[in-house]
Amino acid sequence: MSAERFLVTGAGGQDGRYMLGRLAADGAEVHAMVRTRSSAEELARRAPVAVGHVVDLTDAAATTALVAELRPTHIVNLAGITSVARSWAEPAETADVLGVGPVSLMEAAWDLTQSGHDVRFVQASSAEVFGDAEEVPQTEQTPLRPVSPYGAAKAFAQTMVRVFRDRGLFASSGILYNHESPERPESFVSRKITREVARISRGLSDGLTLGNLDAERDWGYAPDYVDALLLIARAERPGDFIVASGESHSVREFVDAAFRHVGIEEWEPLVGVDPAFFRPAEPNRQIGDAARLRALGWRPSLGFAELVGLMVDADLRALDG
Ligand code: GDP
Repeated sequence: MSAERFLVTGAGGQDGRYMLGRLAADGAEVHAMVRTRSSAEELARRAPVAVGHVVDLTDAAATTALVAELRPTHIVNLAGITSVARSWAEPAETADVLGVGPVSLMEAAWDLTQSGHDVRFVQASSAEVFGDAEEVPQTEQTPLRPVSPYGAAKAFAQTMVRVFRDRGLFASSGILYNHESPERPESFVSRKITREVARISRGLSDGLTLGNLDAERDWGYAPDYVDALLLIARAERPGDFIVASGESHSVREFVDAAFRHVGIEEWEPLVGVDPAFFRPAEPNRQIGDAARLRALGWRPSLGFAELVGLMVDADLRALDG
């Protein structure tokens, strides 16, 4: 078997960090593409095995040059500087990074295959592509009907993955539902909740303010989703694969599980609601059916309550130093 050489974009984010760890453990040669020098320096501290490259994915020429020079066997695109919430504030930048960026990578990968070098491309797509979903749960056949700038850009990228696949490139999408971990920034509701609940439990805070408590998500554990992407990268055939737990829970249930984990049952007086945190539009019920991926052997390692508990425990440990 020829040695694997991975190029991972967005390597400084939650999923990137887990992926570099997994790949290093697998003995692969790992190249990490990050946007800023400071991310590269952080990466050098956290994942010294990976070789850092400072390239902005929106710079198509630099991206193409990097792929041509490295001649990777696998490219995993995790780059995305924006969250769904932020994509409303920066829709054009969102389209550039999430929509056009992957196309630059696939074009560069296609050029390599034309010169006789095999390279596989894996796109981290998102449940946001389904938006106002026609069916629940969603499968790989569910029509794409995004309702946010983030979802629209990811839907374009996912469609281009299929177009390149039809052209002959080994190109796949993992359609990732929400996946959380202690590495999640607090701009996401999961970490915002677990960090504040940990602070409340230690007497450092007297409450937290959230948006729509009735919003529901299919939440999973980020390392399991990174494993899914690697399974897809190494699969026999390319395709689109839903990566999801198959269960949905409301933000209210997340809050309840977090407070229960620290022994607080009467949490309502501690939680305020501010319409400023509401979204202009919310996707319909996001629940994924990962049957196709399960057929490849994928299994999530943690359930919902365990995930919430693990995140609260990590935040408690960080506070206790
Ligand atoms: P997303 O699915 O990628 O947008 O992940 P988020 O964690 O940012 O949001 C998940 C859901 O939580 C969305 O439906 C939000 O409307 C809802 N939500 C409720 N309160 C908050 C909050 O205070 N912050 C965030 N980020 N989301 C919130």
